[in-house]
Amino acid sequence: MGWSSMAGDRRGPVRLARGAARRVLRRLRPRRRPAILMYHRIADETFDPWELAVSPSIFARHLDWLRSHRTVLPLPDFVRLHRERQLPSDAVAITFDDAYACVAQVAAPMLKSSGLPATVFVPPELIEQGEEFWWDDIERMVMASAATEVAVDGETIPLGPRREADRDWPPNAAPRTDRQKAFHAVWAKLRVKSPADLRAAVLTLRKDLGADDVARPSHRPMTVAEARAAKSAIMQFGAHALTHPSLPCLDSSEKRHEIVDSVEQCEALTEQRPATMAYPYGDFDAESEKLAEEAGFDCACTTDHAFVTAESRPFALPRIQVGNWSPARLRRVLEG
Ligand SMILES: [Zn+2]
Repeated sequence: MGWSSMAGDRRGPVRLARGAARRVLRRLRPRRRPAILMYHRIADETFDPWELAVSPSIFARHLDWLRSHRTVLPLPDFVRLHRERQLPSDAVAITFDDAYACVAQVAAPMLKSSGLPATVFVPPELIEQGEEFWWDDIERMVMASAATEVAVDGETIPLGPRREADRDWPPNAAPRTDRQKAFHAVWAKLRVKSPADLRAAVLTLRKDLGADDVARPSHRPMTVAEARAAKSAIMQFGAHALTHPSLPCLDSSEKRHEIVDSVEQCEALTEQRPATMAYPYGDFDAESEKLAEEAGFDCACTTDHAFVTAESRPFALPRIQVGNWSPARLRRVLEG
């Protein structure tokens, strides 16, 4: 037996023992890193390609777990401590993007009774418009239409028959039914349009698909009255640009309008000056960061899936998108 194999024999058990010790230590002293959590809808939903919905019963369990295991801070406090390099390792901030009605109706009372603060990022012009957000609106129109095909940008997209299975789309899965594929094709074409072209395309689809503009109660944005009623020490509002565009796609003056003017419009809508913002779709560039700072926000959030570290820039803060996860999975992600 050579020296190296003998050494291997001796080192192997030591390594194994160290690995086991580390696992035990991790259980005893779970890893904690500051995180900003991102939610969208608090709703029971079977059609959820982008994992935006968390059921109310699951959300209640998330709040229970967070209250017992993390220091949940209002986002402005979280950012101040981050800047001062005083952020506790177990700090968490809860955020909601888009201002769905369910956040005012379902999440706000739950947050209030658990005493946990949250920030809702609101695109004020879309709230005033009162229609479904475009990604939901085209789902509503495409999935329900009696039409057999639809043209977008000169391309004809077959819709196929409507089936019961159309409503079943698990998070992050590929489209399965013909209608789901048609919806996804329409969505992909609209996703890259400028705000004006996107609006025009939605109105054309509405006509071509024989749809109305009535928002579903399950998907509608909150009303101005609901936003004002939900606003409290527990629930604050931040800006999500004016019309929810992908900011890097805009020219400088449009970008400035969407970011800087969102401060006044948010304040007019919620009667509270927004201290924070989130980039729509998480899309941002160096100019957006500069404009967010110039607009007077304390910070701006992205959708980069990461923990907040000492290196995180206040105008490019990462967030962890939370799905309809068991508390055990939430714990695993936050301790990962
Ligand atoms: Zn959004």
